[in-house]
Amino acid sequence: MGLAYTAGTTCERHCDVASLLLGALTLPEERELTTHLAACRTCQAALDELGTLPDLLASVPRSDVELINRSTSRSCRVPGSVEASTAGTR
Ligand SMILES: [Zn+2]
Repeated sequence: MGLAYTAGTTCERHCDVASLLLGALTLPEERELTTHLAACRTCQAALDELGTLPDLLASVPRSDVELINRSTSRSCRVPGSVEASTAGTR
């Protein structure tokens, strides 16, 4: 019964969390999202879930990262959901 955006399991800022981890946000965007993160459990969970990405992406060229960021902004895929479906096939 608190803030509206904590009610559901998804958040429209979800994609921005990925962008934040990719370092693809501008400074104002980053600060704004950090403020949002403090209040949004969905994004906190997303940040936690995506936390392993930077290690993975550290080996990816910057130009590719920008490409990935563009595609994630459109489709917004969460690694966890992929894992879940893979686990189900076993
Ligand atoms: Zn959020």
